[in-house]
Amino acid sequence: MILISACLAGINCRYDGGSKQIVEIEKLIKEGKAVLVCPEQLGGLPTPRIPCEIRDGDGRSVLEKSAAVYNREGANLTDCFIRGAEETLKIAKLYGVEKAILKARSPSCGKDRIYDGSFQKKVTHGDGVTAALLRKHGILVLDEEDFREYI
Ligand code: SF4
Repeated sequence: MILISACLAGINCRYDGGSKQIVEIEKLIKEGKAVLVCPEQLGGLPTPRIPCEIRDGDGRSVLEKSAAVYNREGANLTDCFIRGAEETLKIAKLYGVEKAILKARSPSCGKDRIYDGSFQKKVTHGDGVTAALLRKHGILVLDEEDFREYI
């Protein structure tokens, strides 16, 4: 089974109430290979919601409590992001997931590159909180830009 960000399957769970559907993901679902998750909803955040970014670090530093996640209005929502990552990991373990396809650049799902906390559409190096936790537990994290090379 492959863990997949629900917004890539056309589920309207993004902060703006929309999705980013990818055609090839539908095939994986129809073949019974996909488990869909939205870590931010699992963490208790509403949809739509005010966009969030990690400030002064990345998902790994959020898990280590040396960085935090804020929404654009300055509210600290770090606990929701950590809870969402932990619930996602729980689902991944229940299904014996070894690979995940997550949404690029999200403060939860992004891998290697995320928005930098300035809300200026600037990207910096690092993982989102869920991507960091899944990687810590040995799950191969891909995104919608590179998964075709591995699936
Ligand atoms: S990127 Fe991740 S957290 Fe954001 S809407 Fe998609 S699945 Fe949910």
